[in-house]
Amino acid sequence: MRSTAMRTHMCGELDIASVGQTVSLCGWVARRREHGEHLAFIDIRDHSGIMQCVVDNDVDVRSEYVIRVTGVVRARPEGTINSSLTTGMVEIGDCIVEILNSAEPPPFPVDARADDVDESIRLKFRYLDIRRERMQKNLRVRAQINSAIRKEMETNGFVEVETPFLMPSTPEGAREFLVPSRKEPGSFFALPQSPQLWKQLLMVAGVDRYYQIARCLRDEDLRADRQYEFMQLDAEMSFVSQDDVLENIGRAVVAAAIAVTGEAPPEIERITWHDAMNRFGIDKPDLRFAMELIELTPLFAGTEFKAFAGASCIKGICVDAKIYPEAAAFGRNKLDGLTDRAKKIGAKGLVWMKIGADGAIDSPVAKFLSDDEKSALVAVMGATEGDLLLLVADEWDTTCEVLGQLRNDIGRPPVHQGPYKYVWVTEFPLFIGIDPVSGRPRPGHHPFCQPHPDDMSLFDTEPLKVRALAYDLVLNGWELGSGSIRIHEPEMQRRVFNQLGISDEEADKRFGFFLQPFKYGAPPHGGFAFGIDRLAAILAGEENIREVIAFPKTQSGSDPMTNAPTPVDPAHLAELGLRLLPPPASS
Ligand code: ASP
Repeated sequence: MRSTAMRTHMCGELDIASVGQTVSLCGWVARRREHGEHLAFIDIRDHSGIMQCVVDNDVDVRSEYVIRVTGVVRARPEGTINSSLTTGMVEIGDCIVEILNSAEPPPFPVDARADDVDESIRLKFRYLDIRRERMQKNLRVRAQINSAIRKEMETNGFVEVETPFLMPSTPEGAREFLVPSRKEPGSFFALPQSPQLWKQLLMVAGVDRYYQIARCLRDEDLRADRQYEFMQLDAEMSFVSQDDVLENIGRAVVAAAIAVTGEAPPEIERITWHDAMNRFGIDKPDLRFAMELIELTPLFAGTEFKAFAGASCIKGICVDAKIYPEAAAFGRNKLDGLTDRAKKIGAKGLVWMKIGADGAIDSPVAKFLSDDEKSALVAVMGATEGDLLLLVADEWDTTCEVLGQLRNDIGRPPVHQGPYKYVWVTEFPLFIGIDPVSGRPRPGHHPFCQPHPDDMSLFDTEPLKVRALAYDLVLNGWELGSGSIRIHEPEMQRRVFNQLGISDEEADKRFGFFLQPFKYGAPPHGGFAFGIDRLAAILAGEENIREVIAFPKTQSGSDPMTNAPTPVDPAHLAELGLRLLPPPASS
């Protein structure tokens, strides 16, 4: 029931079946126009829609006034029906209008035209921006997702537990927001990058299945898919395998998708991290399009072409002229642009080839290749006339990464464009790369991930080859979330910390509060967290998560409405034991 003391219906609820009813509606004036000598039309808007009301000409209302309208629903006369509105068959006649509040002229029209208004203005007047249909829909998509997730998690026995916001600094990898302590000047709380530590402690505590729709905070540069604060479905389970976690999280994702789109997505595929890199050149592959990386190293094993001879990994992509006619027909300038891009990502160079009639190859390097190599290449790449081939020869990771980026640059549709392609990426490396400062491996995800049991023989000697029981969920090329089976034995945790260059003493000092409980019977456990903002944006058909967040920060990290962040009173700083350094000199 939507009726209240002031209204009988929502504006968007009335249709031809309501004809003859006396109704009261409340909302904002969307539009007013004169209708003959004595009458005017007022469109009244609430979040559910717009209703046309016929009123006396002398009713003095303007855009965004708050009004209450009482009258009788009637069918619109032939010729005035508006098929673009769900309420377009009816109007309210003989209206009595009460003005509940006046309004200043809004800084932008409160309708679809505001899409073209500068975003900082939309955010400065976010409360007006949210009055619009698009934003009302987006916030409701989000709410549907939250509600579906809660229901699904609870059906599967997960218990919602709230965890602290003020906590010690943790080693999850992102830059943290710090909160100075008034009681202990010089000491700081950190705001949670995620409830990771708490949820693991809840497993030690025997909660068994935990979930929370949790706010996480990370002081990282903002992007289309990143805000300082964001929401995650955060979950943890005891006595589980990786499959148990993926199945339960998968159910929540599917429930959310059904709640918004009305249909279940196809079964979520799985791919290992190695295959994702090998075939798509990226750990968050967008499976909506093909253009896979094709292995060419054996084909060029005996080549005389210097750039390829002895290269440890040669791969290529085929830009199909039938699917990407523009890119396949790139001229010299654009091809030079692609080469520059490849070099910027880390390649020594990029080889391009255009396929002509009968498989002829037009390329600056064609003369260095044998006829056999050329014909084998065209066959392996499945190339036909008009296609463009792009080849890279380098170390495996560089070759994959460069071609993966070019594949995305050329072929990737906007993230929110259907179909929805979810994929689990499993077996992430336990460590990725070497930290240039410490000379030690860096954690692939966070340092609590369980090493893959099959790789333990490599742990001490070749740590970069060790896989973790760690997995991501990817949707349309966006990382939705990550998780892992966790280390539950103190000895294994100590070995991982030591590989990271964290000594036993330091680990005790920094994370003792976390390590200590593991000595009291930690069960095997694992979990996951995925970003609700990202999922909501894609399901709402938006390219930027700001469009599904009621009050986001701008790309530069501020809020034009409240002006946060703002300087604070020196007395407040003094109370916290803080003194400001002069601002850094601008370069
Ligand atoms: N805490 C991790 C994150 O926020 C997720 C997890 O491992 O459960 O990325």
